[in-house]
Amino acid sequence: MSPKKLFSGPADRRIQRALCIVAHPDDIDFYCAGTVVQMTARGVHVDFVLATSGDKGTSDPDLTGEALARTREAEQEASARVLGAKHVEYLRQRDAELTETLVLRGLLVREIRRSRPDLLLTFDPTPGYRQHPDHRVIGRVALDAAWPCARDRLSYPEAGPPHVTAEAWLFAGPRHDLKIDVSDVLETKIDARLEHRSQTGNPRTLRGRWRHIGAEERFAQVDLR
Ligand SMILES: [Zn+2]
Repeated sequence: MSPKKLFSGPADRRIQRALCIVAHPDDIDFYCAGTVVQMTARGVHVDFVLATSGDKGTSDPDLTGEALARTREAEQEASARVLGAKHVEYLRQRDAELTETLVLRGLLVREIRRSRPDLLLTFDPTPGYRQHPDHRVIGRVALDAAWPCARDRLSYPEAGPPHVTAEAWLFAGPRHDLKIDVSDVLETKIDARLEHRSQTGNPRTLRGRWRHIGAEERFAQVDLR
């Protein structure tokens, strides 16, 4: 058997389905939205899974966590439409309290088996690297869910038929095997980020800053086959 080559980038025709698993609304917009648009533009089916709905992301003393979560889910829906994603699933865990549990792993196994991605996009959980704790946890649990649990028939048998995800691309970590130029879709990426109105100060300032920092997305590649 010849060795399998890693995916070359979002244009790789072997990628027909992709799944982004993140901790919070707007994580995708920060770290991989340009890559998502490059894939959806050529017809790749992309789904999103959000572990939390970002119910702690405010300094407004009059806003409850529940109301904020509803607002942020609506913002995420609008952003997902801009990015061309097919479905957003909300696991509604508590923001800033994600922990590595077998229950969370089972929820992600179910989502992976339902979405059946060729490519998983999630956080790089490399230890010793400054990260929001939810980012570290969701990256690690998503990888463990994809390999080996979603692959193995006897793991979480109630969570649907087994599925092999070929590869993971991990963002926000120290290793950058794959650098994707997303300058061709940068304005769309910024439009999607601006849908997160509750997390946006001055939209003009943000657009200007993102034109400087948003044109490249970087990933560590992990073979899961
Ligand atoms: Zn986050």
